Amino acid sequence: MNADAFVYRDNQLFAEDIAVSTLAERFGTPTYVYSRRMLESAYCAFDDAFSAVDHLVCFAVKANSNIGVLNLLARLGSGFDIVSGGELKRVLKAGGSPDKIVFSGVAKSVADIRLALETNILCFNVESGAELERIQQIAAACNRTARISFRVNPDVDAQTHPYISTGLRENKFGVAFEDALALYQRAAAMTHIEIHGIDCHIGSQLTSVSPFVDALQRVLGLVDALRATGIELKHIDIGGGLGVRYRDEIPPTPAEYAHQLLAQLASRNLKVLCEPGRAISANAGIMITRVEYLKDNGDRHFALVDAGMNDQIRPSLYGAWMKLEPVSVRSDVGTAVYDVVGPVCETGDFLGKERELTIAAGDLLVLRDAGAYGFVMASNYNSRGRPAEVIVDGDMAHLVRQREGFDDLIRGEQLLPGHDHG
Ligand SMILES: *Cc1c(COP(=O)(O)O)cnc(C)c1O
Repeated sequence: MNADAFVYRDNQLFAEDIAVSTLAERFGTPTYVYSRRMLESAYCAFDDAFSAVDHLVCFAVKANSNIGVLNLLARLGSGFDIVSGGELKRVLKAGGSPDKIVFSGVAKSVADIRLALETNILCFNVESGAELERIQQIAAACNRTARISFRVNPDVDAQTHPYISTGLRENKFGVAFEDALALYQRAAAMTHIEIHGIDCHIGSQLTSVSPFVDALQRVLGLVDALRATGIELKHIDIGGGLGVRYRDEIPPTPAEYAHQLLAQLASRNLKVLCEPGRAISANAGIMITRVEYLKDNGDRHFALVDAGMNDQIRPSLYGAWMKLEPVSVRSDVGTAVYDVVGPVCETGDFLGKERELTIAAGDLLVLRDAGAYGFVMASNYNSRGRPAEVIVDGDMAHLVRQREGFDDLIRGEQLLPGHDHG
């Protein structure tokens, strides 16, 4: 469906039609590289999968919020799922349409709600009664009407990592299923609230469709119960969460996912919204890093690379397994099993453990499937500037975010007044 843009030609790894080694020379390391072709074809796979019904694909901006990436998707007509005012401003900067934006997030601030109302976004995905009250108040004060959905928590087990499972009662997300009816009735009586839909998002990196189907069935029960009380919804937002292959997972394709969900929705007059993040951008990105040193501690081999957990935190944070590949395939040095670790002063700073690699100091490595929850989670820990970001398009490469330097690191900081220094 989405042909890999990162393949070897004559033992050299390419990104579309450019050698990765050329990108490393031009932009330095570590650098994130995204394939325009893979981003666009992943978006189109979702858009096509739902083409039988009125629908809107809202890319989850938190997965990859580079404005160059958002702009490519906006040009294709994508909607966006945001979780902050900062993400809203990014989407607008990237040319996204306000009437295709949905606003998720458990603790929306007054300022962010006001900005979203002034922007006239499509819908707020409301996560509590208290938030509903706050939106009503702000909307009344600025004389706007807020379109809303409630994010309901269907209490289904997404069978994914506990840190990225969101649809269980014990999670902080959404409103309890049994409270939803009363909340909709409260909303229906409010002056500046317009009930628009219902929303549910149960977790991330799901590799089977059945939890989505279970959740949808429960939500549809609620849609019926609402109709019986006279509340008619215009849309159902099925959230994001479709998984991707990092190692040997075999997630459903967007077409398989949509097929099963649409079967549940047949004959209902509901617009379908979905909020994929990872499934659109993960496979479309890589991170290039350079081996600084090789060393042995006892019988353990280490490859010390120039990218650390501040650049890419998924292995450290979730124990995520991400593929590491050499940029040049060589046979003139020995093969060994390495822990690939970064320069950050934390034992948890690694990109991969026990990887068989044929490498020498100075070689380039690529961390695959790094296009989602990669750069967006990068930090300046250890006073390290965040990496550059590049989009490749055929044989062209565009820098869409320059590497951070020292001025970026200390922006906004200042010395105390009254003492000479330097
Ligand atoms: C994170 C998130 C998404 C996207 O999840 P993916 O697993 O990246 O598809 C969608 N909707 C909401 C509300 C989210 O929090």
